[in-house]
Amino acid sequence: MRRKLNRTKKMISLLVILALVLPLAGRITVMPASAVTQAEIDGLKEEAADLDSQRAQLQQQLKAIQSDKSKALEQKSLLEQQISATQAEINNIQAQITKYGELIDQKELELAEAEEQERQQYELFCERVRYMEEEGEVSYWSILFASDDFADLLDNFMMVEEIIDYDNSIMESILALQEQIKQDKAELETAKSEQEAAKAKEEAAKADLKQQEAQVDALIEEISGQEDQLEAAEAQLKAAADAMDAEIKRLEKEMAAQISTVVSESGFQWPLPSSWNTLSSLFGNRIHPITGRPNNHTGIDIPASKNTNIYAAKSGVVTTSTYNSSYGNYVVVSHSDGTSTLYAHMNSRAVSKGDTVSQGQVIGYVGTTGSSTGNHLHFEIRVNGNRVDPVNYFPDKTLYVRSGGKTVLLEH
Ligand SMILES: [Zn+2]
Repeated sequence: MRRKLNRTKKMISLLVILALVLPLAGRITVMPASAVTQAEIDGLKEEAADLDSQRAQLQQQLKAIQSDKSKALEQKSLLEQQISATQAEINNIQAQITKYGELIDQKELELAEAEEQERQQYELFCERVRYMEEEGEVSYWSILFASDDFADLLDNFMMVEEIIDYDNSIMESILALQEQIKQDKAELETAKSEQEAAKAKEEAAKADLKQQEAQVDALIEEISGQEDQLEAAEAQLKAAADAMDAEIKRLEKEMAAQISTVVSESGFQWPLPSSWNTLSSLFGNRIHPITGRPNNHTGIDIPASKNTNIYAAKSGVVTTSTYNSSYGNYVVVSHSDGTSTLYAHMNSRAVSKGDTVSQGQVIGYVGTTGSSTGNHLHFEIRVNGNRVDPVNYFPDKTLYVRSGGKTVLLEH
């Protein structure tokens, strides 16, 4: 035994060691409140897979009739459904890309935190080793050898054991952090490569969309010259109208409470910018002043250029906003005075079912989706569920009607 190590010095040694060891308490990771979970991304991926199979199914149906010119309208409808599925998939993929971005930020933060903690622990460990080196006598053995008697030896033995435990816990902590860093890095790489894959998928879907839109344009060109296709379009609309009447009544009943909270104006606002005031097709059996033929029509047709704003004719509640192979993209707004308005063949819709809209609010954009052969708004008014002639509700509006290059004033 070289030298008696007094108890005070031993205690100081132990305290120094404890001071070095204690800050190494477990790793605390603060997750941001909006933390992205893999489950969220998986949910989106499942939805995307559904849309993929929908698109494949539509593609098959389309392939079966693609060479049949008499089925041009059907082809158009299938393509439009593909377009809306493709658009939904693009939205989904964009949501995935955003979520991956958040996940990457989160992982980078966690990684930086783990690396900082590892650095701190390693520094503490080095300090501890340096201390042991400087105070050569405060080695495990020197503490044991410095025991005064057997009781003191037991005391010291327990102290040494504790010190060894602490040393081990530092090493374990550093090893655990290194493992954590390895895992964080791997997860970060995975998120980055999946985000890249999603971006590639988005590009492919956008190319699909462009191609589908070009195909629809070509079909519209083709259909507009075919008399039988024009008649087929008219017949399809008529057939869909009865089912539509019942559905509108059902939804109005279902959403009656919400509809009753919206005060409707006494008059209707023209559903397009005021200069689009020439009709191509009139309501019901009304004789077309130029063609001399009765129309057989559920509403009025107002031609306007693609993507012209369509306005809610009165304040109300959107009871339908969907796509239908006859009406294309269409919206129904129900008003609290027992009337409802329907807007069809939209290029795209700007409202969803359940939205409350005010008079004049943009609810969609003019297009030629569904059984339609050119850009126009097909507009219907119902009073207590029965279709009425819309022009009668615009007594002060100057309206024209046209056919075959001729335009005349419409008496109403
Ligand atoms: Zn129409």
